[in-house]
Amino acid sequence: MVASTMAGGVRSALRFAVGMLAGLGLTGVLHGGAQLVSPEPGWLRESIALAAGGNLLVGLVLLPLVLLVAVARRPTPGWTVGRGLLFGAAIGLLPVLGTLAIRLELYRGHATVAMYLAPLLFLGVRLWPTRRLPSAALSHGILALSVVAWWWAGGRGLEPSFPVDPIEGDPARRASFARAGGPEVGPTAPDVVLVSLDTMRADAVHGPHRATVPHLDALAARGLSAPYARSGSNCTLPGHIEMFTGVGPLQHGILNNSGLTPEELPILGELFAEAGWNTAAVISNRVIERRFGPSRGFELWHDALGTAHNHLARLGENTLLGWISDRDLFAALHPVVFFGQHGVQAEWGAREAERTAQTAIARINELQAGSRPFLLVVHFMDAHDPYFAPANYRGQRQAAPGDAIPGHDETRARYWEEVDYLDAQLGRVLEALEATGRPTLICVTGDHGEHLGEQDMVGHSDELYEPVVRVPFFLAGPGVPQGTLPPVSLIDVTPTLLACAGLPVPATMEGRDVRTQLGKELDPERFLFARDERSVSAVVGTIKWAAAWPRGAATPDEGEFRDLATDPNEADAPLGEAPPGVLEEVKRRLGEAILRMDAAMSPERRRALAQLGYVDSAEE
Ligand SMILES: [Zn+2]
Repeated sequence: MVASTMAGGVRSALRFAVGMLAGLGLTGVLHGGAQLVSPEPGWLRESIALAAGGNLLVGLVLLPLVLLVAVARRPTPGWTVGRGLLFGAAIGLLPVLGTLAIRLELYRGHATVAMYLAPLLFLGVRLWPTRRLPSAALSHGILALSVVAWWWAGGRGLEPSFPVDPIEGDPARRASFARAGGPEVGPTAPDVVLVSLDTMRADAVHGPHRATVPHLDALAARGLSAPYARSGSNCTLPGHIEMFTGVGPLQHGILNNSGLTPEELPILGELFAEAGWNTAAVISNRVIERRFGPSRGFELWHDALGTAHNHLARLGENTLLGWISDRDLFAALHPVVFFGQHGVQAEWGAREAERTAQTAIARINELQAGSRPFLLVVHFMDAHDPYFAPANYRGQRQAAPGDAIPGHDETRARYWEEVDYLDAQLGRVLEALEATGRPTLICVTGDHGEHLGEQDMVGHSDELYEPVVRVPFFLAGPGVPQGTLPPVSLIDVTPTLLACAGLPVPATMEGRDVRTQLGKELDPERFLFARDERSVSAVVGTIKWAAAWPRGAATPDEGEFRDLATDPNEADAPLGEAPPGVLEEVKRRLGEAILRMDAAMSPERRRALAQLGYVDSAEE
């Protein structure tokens, strides 16, 4: 008797559960299909896939709970498919109503909405007249349709369904792209391509233990390369702003990944657009956001991955699965559903090199159809952690002899594999450029480097040691001689591109045309600064000064000096005394920057700075 009651309980609970899944699936499809969670166009299928798929998953999680309750409470006539459907729909409606309440600005928190609505919805399910319950056939049909909708939207075999380029379907954003109007450009004006390899160490592509980079080698063989370019930052946004504006951190003032590019600084995209070039950028993370100003002058700033990340964040906040699951779990679904498994950095909304190359090639094909030369920026993200190259590269490397740092060999090998992969993908872009048959100026560089065990550190955005401020530099194309340069700087990138393209270099830019340095040694007079939120450094010749300078502090501390010629790893004790005149010059230049930042400086503060040697007290 007990056994048959239990079996009856399980049977009716299963019927109820099927209905529940149908209710959850239906609300998921409606929720995603109405694009309530994410207003950006072009993400309909992804919204449905994650909202409906997530709801169905929640239903499967609830299934054992339903069975347990059914067995404990015995079956009642109320446990029908139809009531299950209402129950599932009530659960699925909570995030829909929560999202709607926020959209209509009725409430700000989903949890508040759910708290008030849940009892009402469940009471509604209980009080719903039995005669008007949806039939079993209808419930089964709804469940089948929900699963089909989820399958169609992107669940099929978990193939990536992310559109390579949502802009393709957006005529408004492409209106001015590959335009015919604008100023006249000379017939020999080259296409200009600037490739930024995010987080790329200079020694990964140049030096005794470098990765396998045949395409970069070929670029070096037909143009100029430097052992490294010095970056003024250890993070992405300021590194790119320096690359695009030709001024260092003391001028642009951006210390981390959120800061506005000063309006008065001339910038790469704007300068080429004003001169008549078509301008486009393919960006592979969400850090180089247009709202911070790097995109000024670009007709097309392709950062769909940033949009994808925002989309996912909204789904995480606004869907049932996003509510109940841990943030990391939801983030883990992202690559599986959208991108396939490898090389994806969901937390950064980052694109992997294969897709970057694919998108860049699509842009090149469009741009070359225009009558004008083009400027194209291509940003690759793969050298950023996690170091997880595609399967055919992963695990292929061992730490190279002579390149070992105990405890970090594995990390170094995985990073080098990413570089191998990147070069192959860069090769595809270079091949597409070659195929245009047009004169093309190509510069390959990066925003900052990476610690791979030096100072026992991994990653970047901490400190300004050499591994994080040395990035690659390659330049080839019309008007570029062949040879090896001394170390250059990121501030040289835009002045060099302008000069090679025959355009004037704004006087405000600190950098110079690197071609003038061919055959020369490292400039012993040139001061190059780097700055982050905590510290500042200056390098002149081989002498490096590094000091603490927390954001908000009036001046840095006295800092310490090292000679990189004798202490390349910055690991020895600092020099006993400052080389003559260097500290004075560093302070004078910092003083200029401090005065610029604080135009209305009080006489007292000025006197205090003068006492410390930053400004001239006589100067008023
Ligand atoms: Zn970066």
